[in-house]
Amino acid sequence: MSKQISADLVILNANIWTMNQNEPRAEAIAIYQDTIIQVGDNKKIQLLIGPETKTIQLNKETVIPGFIDAHTHIAWNGMNKIYLDLGSTKSLQEALDLIKISLNSKKPGEWIIGRSWDQSKWPEQRYINAEDLDPISPENPVILRHVSGHFETVNSLAFERLNLDPSQKGVDLNEEGKPTGTLRDIDLSDKKEIRPNFDDFITGLNYGMDECLSLGITSVHDNITFENLLPYKYLAENNELRIRIYGIIYEDMLDEAIKIGLDRFFGDKWFHLGAVKLMTDGAISSRTAYLYEDYSDKKGEKGFALYDEKRLDDMVRKVHDANLQIAAHAIGDKAIANLITAIMKNIDPEECYRAMHRIEHAELLQLEDIERSKDYGIVYSMQPNFVWRWGMVGVNGMYEQRIGKERTLINNPFRWVLDHNLLLVFGSDGMPLGPLYGLKGAIFHPNEQLRLTLDEAIRCFTLYPAIVSREDKIKGSIEKGKLADLVVLSHNLDNIELADFHDVEIQYTIVGGKVAYKR
Ligand SMILES: [Zn+2]
Repeated sequence: MSKQISADLVILNANIWTMNQNEPRAEAIAIYQDTIIQVGDNKKIQLLIGPETKTIQLNKETVIPGFIDAHTHIAWNGMNKIYLDLGSTKSLQEALDLIKISLNSKKPGEWIIGRSWDQSKWPEQRYINAEDLDPISPENPVILRHVSGHFETVNSLAFERLNLDPSQKGVDLNEEGKPTGTLRDIDLSDKKEIRPNFDDFITGLNYGMDECLSLGITSVHDNITFENLLPYKYLAENNELRIRIYGIIYEDMLDEAIKIGLDRFFGDKWFHLGAVKLMTDGAISSRTAYLYEDYSDKKGEKGFALYDEKRLDDMVRKVHDANLQIAAHAIGDKAIANLITAIMKNIDPEECYRAMHRIEHAELLQLEDIERSKDYGIVYSMQPNFVWRWGMVGVNGMYEQRIGKERTLINNPFRWVLDHNLLLVFGSDGMPLGPLYGLKGAIFHPNEQLRLTLDEAIRCFTLYPAIVSREDKIKGSIEKGKLADLVVLSHNLDNIELADFHDVEIQYTIVGGKVAYKR
């Protein structure tokens, strides 16, 4: 006689999108500790209910695997809460007003650090500059990071304090040859005075994890800077990670990682390392993404490569040889093409296929590059939220302004990637976090031919990122034996008109069998 274990938690009467090809739909799930022990119909699962079992009884709402956001900066997202958040400002004037308010609580000389401003949301439609800032903040250095993360604006005092040189690359000058305050892709990582400390990171990570849980995100592929690593270690050691992390470390940590033999098999189900971030170009919004043709709103500008050919070759080989995964940022069509060429030149196709090297963003990805990357199994790690936020032609078009309508319509070509049987993973880059927001960019892409179905788009946010971090044995779909990381949505996705997708909300987020968020 075998003793039947009873479940800790069951979900009944759901419409489950399992993301498991063999059994795409189910009705109920039983969970024991942190693991799914059975998936099936109500009857089968009811047998596992004991006196202690908790039950979530649904009315055919859809349950999907927990979302995996494949490109985040969680600590930085959370730190928006401790720094001055300019992300929701509706005008440049409003941003200046917020700076004035925060000056009230600062002593002369103290830094004002602001984040996430986005001129495309302002009627002024221009960058904030030193001339705006100097009169309101003559005694406090001010640095304001753009939402793209690729440039910042500083006032004149901050320019001085950071010991910047007007002639250095990335410093914008006005007609009189004076710095405008805009700093493009200038490395400020050694400027201690503007860097967050350990406690700031812990606070940022906690805020960031809370935000993830409220949005249905149970795992992330997080970009981890050097100073972010120890705060993560601290949280992991104290069992305070509440979402699961796949770490993408930065290039400056690579030599150390290689020295200690740290590769992609390092870690556990909460924190796991594996990828290395390379930066091959900038962003479209700052006209630093490297293009074949000029930017539509600036003749003669094509952006630029951040590595020369030799350095790119060396980096690609180095990461691959260290048994780490390449996660290379490339946005412009020329940057993407150069990167693919470097990968093809330096890595054996079969080995490359197994390594699942990935291109981050890959916005202006060309069809011929997808074709030639097929045998190499390149993974495209893209941001559908960018399409919804900046790419809807004729609506809110930062993309249209920078690269014109024609290129905007083939920007972020999700359909092409899937049609070539390549892995497509979706992340947000934190602009903003939230897969339900991001999914809209995939299902309502302005070019109908490039749209995904809802089912395909959800796979890119669940199963595929689990495959790419080599964790699909433990997560990414709703199957017996996998971790109970789940999201309960407010609607039945089989009955919903696509146009009503905007109404869908997160009801529950479950991580390792525990309800971590309830609306
Ligand atoms: Zn990023």
